[in-house]
Amino acid sequence: MLSTNAVADLTKNIAREIAAPNADQTDQNAAWPEASIRTLLGEGLGGLVVPERFGGQGHGTKMLTEVCEILGSECASTAICFGMHSVGASVIAANPTDSQQEQYLSPIVSGKHITTLSLSEAGTGAHFYLPQTQLEVIDQGYSINGTKTFVTNGENADSFVVSAVASEPDAPMGQFSCVVVPNHSSGMEWGPPWQGMGMRGNSSRSLSLNNVVVPRHNLLGKEGDQIWYIFNVVCPYFLVAIAGTYLGIMNAALEEVKAHLVKRHHTHVGLTLAQAPVLQHRLGEMWGKVEKTRRLVYHAADSFDQGDSDALIALMSAKAEVADAVVDIVNDAMTMVGGISYRDGSRLHRNLRDARASHLMSPTTDILRVWIGRALLGQPLLAD
Ligand SMILES: Cc1cc2nc3c(=O)[nH]c(=O)nc-3n(C[C@H](O)[C@H](O)[C@H](O)COP(=O)(O)OP(=O)(O)OC[C@H]3O[C@@H](n4cnc5c(N)ncnc54)[C@H](O)[C@@H]3O)c2cc1C
Repeated sequence: MLSTNAVADLTKNIAREIAAPNADQTDQNAAWPEASIRTLLGEGLGGLVVPERFGGQGHGTKMLTEVCEILGSECASTAICFGMHSVGASVIAANPTDSQQEQYLSPIVSGKHITTLSLSEAGTGAHFYLPQTQLEVIDQGYSINGTKTFVTNGENADSFVVSAVASEPDAPMGQFSCVVVPNHSSGMEWGPPWQGMGMRGNSSRSLSLNNVVVPRHNLLGKEGDQIWYIFNVVCPYFLVAIAGTYLGIMNAALEEVKAHLVKRHHTHVGLTLAQAPVLQHRLGEMWGKVEKTRRLVYHAADSFDQGDSDALIALMSAKAEVADAVVDIVNDAMTMVGGISYRDGSRLHRNLRDARASHLMSPTTDILRVWIGRALLGQPLLAD
């Protein structure tokens, strides 16, 4: 197992040497960040959150937060693509059968297999826990029919953790199952290339599954027990992967402001912007916002890794707070850096577009706050 420091140092190196120099091209060409993802996996981070007993690095949500934060400071698309691979890997690793270990976890930990989470659908939108994709039991295993949206990593992944509901008409809504679907299965059809406002390297395409057949042993856990997966694995890892990425964007914006203020010199007064009290005040405020949000996210992840009973509330709140903070911070950073940052190709231009997805990525900010309220009131989270 690589120590936390070793993982952080390795990630910083990859972020600086590979993700950063490619970030503009990734953004401009909406190109999946292949070089950074392949290097992260090649250096042993493919199984970052896979337990050591399956050959992984055995790290938890705190380490995943840090890795996504480091990557997100340089290239948000790399951070989310790696994050979604890790979330998918954590779901497969939660309760794997022998054949899932052999077929999926072994190649994941040896850096040869990319996976991802494929839950969202157009029909139920932000209610990612209510799939309408159908899973039918057939002689050869399961037949899957439906369309998934926003499949991050898209066609670049080797497998997809797909949620689906039993096809029987009386199957209870929400009691869905997850199956691993290998890429290039017969009956898979990809939608148009991803063209997002931000996160442009994500390749978050839609995927139609038309009578896609997978063997019975590709089922994760037992049929219909996915609510356990949602709250014990999917949500925690999903929340920190996203929160870490957005922390990275906040850091990038803060650094951009600092560098600009000391550099920008006004000839009419012979002073730099670093000497302007209003901007000093704004920077102080910005630092505080970054720091308190960071501490909340790491506290929540640590609390989950320690098994605290109220960790999920902290994690949900952390992702909602990050979403608010990152949009505000990058927005303020643009005001403080001024016209130069509004131009095409500026770092903050990309940061602002990347940041904006924070509220829309499930669990969305509004839904998280409803869930937090329900949890505090002792009400069931999934009441709708
Ligand atoms: C860049 C990007 C990457 C993504 N990657 C993945 C991925 O890898 N895998 C995956 O499965 N999904 C992914 N998604 C999908 C994402 O997680 C959301 O599920 C999806 O964006 C929400 O779909 P929608 O806008 O149709 O939601 P809608 O349901 O139409 O929601 C629109 C708005 O209404 C709000 N809303 C809806 N219902 C309620 C309610 N009952 N109470 C309060 N507010 C409500 C939502 O919070 C949201 O703000 C990604 C999305 C983006 C933008």
